[in-house]
Amino acid sequence: DTLVNQIAAGEVIERPASVVKELVENALDAGARRIDIDLEEGGVRLIRVRDDGGGIEPDELPLAVSRHATSKIASLDDLEGVATLGFRGEALPSIASVSRFALISRRAGGGHAAMLEVDGGRVGTVVPKAHPPGTTVEVRDLFFNVPARRKFLKAERTELGHIEEWLRQLALARPDVELRVSHNGKPSRRWKGEGDLLSEVRLHEALGEEFARNALRVDHHGPAPAAGAAQGLRLHGWIAQPSYNRASADQQYLYVNGRAVRDRSIAHAVKQAYADVLFHGRQPAYVLFLELDPRRVDVNVHPAKHEVRFRDARLIHDFVYRTLEQALAETRA
Ligand code: ADP
Ligand code: MG
Repeated sequence: DTLVNQIAAGEVIERPASVVKELVENALDAGARRIDIDLEEGGVRLIRVRDDGGGIEPDELPLAVSRHATSKIASLDDLEGVATLGFRGEALPSIASVSRFALISRRAGGGHAAMLEVDGGRVGTVVPKAHPPGTTVEVRDLFFNVPARRKFLKAERTELGHIEEWLRQLALARPDVELRVSHNGKPSRRWKGEGDLLSEVRLHEALGEEFARNALRVDHHGPAPAAGAAQGLRLHGWIAQPSYNRASADQQYLYVNGRAVRDRSIAHAVKQAYADVLFHGRQPAYVLFLELDPRRVDVNVHPAKHEVRFRDARLIHDFVYRTLEQALAETRA
């Protein structure tokens, strides 16, 4: 069913950056502490993602590239509180149907390493191959067999830019993981693994010195249980103050339970608090993390769109608004 996989790829895999996203998220789901990403020609020629995560048994390699085989959920009920990034089991078969693909892996803690190649959807056989514990996925010649898709790929710099932007978004959310990137054989970026909390160093590296210098740190937990429905909410991160003099609509990073999302209601709450307290009309730059009980948010809206649906959207809007209004007002006092 190469065709079915290619159709699925049409939904999920738009460009090299989508492949990087799927592969890196798999590495994170596998518990990787370090991820190496090698790119050639903006990822069109090659994307190679290597991790030091849990790895895959040789005899499970065919399963990993077959449709709807996910090791991450066992039943529909699990969807409710899904904590891993992937859970649909369609990324690898989709990618492998539109590229020259190789999956090489070895279980952490023993066993043999093996490789499975898939050429434009044609699955080969598992062969022994040397590899340290962890997994490498190689994707060459993306869309080589789908000329209509290949035609829409942009210049190398543009595709690379999309990948870098996605990696920046990830680096802000996962300061605990080391990321190394190379392009056309040259090291291009290295994010050293740090603690669990986004440090000023990484903030600075990701968004520039200006942002880091002008950013206000926010960290607020919802009120105590007795106060009602806002319990268990937490908003933390950084918001630039008006002294930050830069067009900033492209520096708005919002994460819900660690997952980068776009949400109009929250974006509105941030902008409104900013406008009410400080300044009218300007787009605030921010990196904000909202944490809440996963049962109060539905992430299963669309595999590629970064949208979520909140069970109580109004309450969350108001929590974000009030938290930022207070934090920003204090800087004026
Ligand atoms: P999903 O992530 O939705 O489960 P994928 O198609 O992305 O589906 O991956 C299929 C399966 O392959 C995963 O469920 C996992 O078991 C395995 N897998 C993929 N990438 C890795 C990796 N880097 N390390 C360990 N296992 C992996
Ligand atoms: Mg996945």
